[in-house]
Amino acid sequence: MTRSLLPNFFAGRWQTGAGEGTPLFDPVLGTELARVSSAGLDLAEGFAFARTQGGAALRALSYAQRAQLLSQIAEVLQTHRDAYFDIATANSGTVAKDSGVDIDGAIFTLGYYAKQGAALGEAKLILDGQRIRMAKDPVFQTQHIQVPTQGVALFINAFNFPSWGLWEKAAPALLSGVPVIIKPATATAWLTQRMVQDVVNAGILPVGALSVICGSSAGLMDALQPFDVVSFTGSAETAKIIRNHRAVSELSVRCNIEADSLNSALLAPNATAESEAFTLLVNEVCREMTVKSGQKCTAIRRIFVPRAVYSAAAAAIAAKLAKTTVGNPRNASVRMGALVSQEQKASVLAGLAQLKTEATVLYDGQAAGFLDADAASCCVAPVLLGTEQPMTAHVLHAVEVFGPVATLMPYDSVADAYAMIRRGDGSLVCSVYSEDPAFTAQASIELASSHGRVHAISPDVAALHSGHGNVMPMSLHGGPGRAGGGEELGGLRALNFYHRRSAVQGSAVALDALATQGVALPL
Ligand code: NAP
Repeated sequence: MTRSLLPNFFAGRWQTGAGEGTPLFDPVLGTELARVSSAGLDLAEGFAFARTQGGAALRALSYAQRAQLLSQIAEVLQTHRDAYFDIATANSGTVAKDSGVDIDGAIFTLGYYAKQGAALGEAKLILDGQRIRMAKDPVFQTQHIQVPTQGVALFINAFNFPSWGLWEKAAPALLSGVPVIIKPATATAWLTQRMVQDVVNAGILPVGALSVICGSSAGLMDALQPFDVVSFTGSAETAKIIRNHRAVSELSVRCNIEADSLNSALLAPNATAESEAFTLLVNEVCREMTVKSGQKCTAIRRIFVPRAVYSAAAAAIAAKLAKTTVGNPRNASVRMGALVSQEQKASVLAGLAQLKTEATVLYDGQAAGFLDADAASCCVAPVLLGTEQPMTAHVLHAVEVFGPVATLMPYDSVADAYAMIRRGDGSLVCSVYSEDPAFTAQASIELASSHGRVHAISPDVAALHSGHGNVMPMSLHGGPGRAGGGEELGGLRALNFYHRRSAVQGSAVALDALATQGVALPL
């Protein structure tokens, strides 16, 4: 049976795309769930509507008033939370715990920005730094300010976070006073569409402040104008298309890219197999490999341990992975669900075959079979690979397998470990496991230039830490080089992307008047 098309909310009204649409599937059962189409939408009309109607209405509000809207959105999402978990089970194939990372992570992030925004009060612009005297007479001064950009924020998102991926971007955009148009990845668009539908139906936001387009991305980049911004999350290949689009290269549309990443975990050189640092690394590696079946941009892909503990690490990780039951997320005994689609399964298996040209299999959960899911489903068991010669490897430092796969590598000197970690060409996150604060500090400095985040774990934070792959709104998300060069979150730093900085040069009296409408960010 052909399911109905999910309606798009665009130009202030619900609009169904033309044609048969593209089907969305249950990755475990293979059944069709819904269809999406953006064919026939008048993109110029919808973008103009968001810019003029949504943008003007949002900018008329203060930061505190917009923060209140975020709070209301979080409440609405909380009300419909059960329905979102059902959609995630059906469309993403995730167990409840993993769906929670996406759904509860979104609600938490909205709540965080609601609170941060409330503290900015009734201001409508940001005072950026101190006033600086520009002449001998102090009457002529300059004050940098940041004001919301008078355009739209177009979000083009990846399939793995249909909920959090929307709201971690939308929270700072809406708080800044910038209207949002979200284009979710087709494979999992249902959850994004449903959340937008609930928020629109609740009548929280000014009309035009939030739009959703499900289906093809064709024409979206062409609709952008100079004061718009685009925030993309997805593969390096699509990122290249976005970067090279005329909107970015000629119109200077501000562009944020979150792309793929070969994230690492590093065990300190003096750690033994009996040390707490060793256990912390093993636990985190197993968690990272299996949460969302490894479909997290931040997941650990490469594990660096001192050569003396290589075999012990392989055995400990394998023993823990063996406890991970894989299969249908509806079965309460299942700990890890499916990959999101047949395309992703094919991509993971192809990537795994590539990695195997340079690594041996240390553990493969395939032999244990799947619970309530057959081999034709999108389930893939965790696989730990290893090589004893990582310095001469190429593929292992270059290919991101977006699934439950990681490679263990021994190092002979810390310098070698840093050099191999850097061969990821810029990553989102590296975690360091150490009981020596001096080493942790030195490693953090060494790794900071090639990572958006260094997750430094020692026994005193063992029970508290937020996890290698968990993106928290108060910390930066993004990374240099291959990771896309983007920056998201990081508390109120996220507002920078949606504001324009300008230096106002004028009399101290005029700057006094300006200051009454502004607030300095408490960074
Ligand atoms: P993708 O294939 O690049 O798709 C990402 C988004 O781009 C989708 O919405 C897709 O729409 C859209 N798209 C495809 N072609 C486009 C074009 N020519 N112009 C404009 N938009 C286009 O990536 P994915 O497979 O969904 O995501 C997996 C990748 O994302 C992995 O490499 C992962 O590392 C990365 N990722 C990174 C982060 C991060 O924060 N750094 C987070 C999550 C994922 P359709 O779905 O309709 O094709």
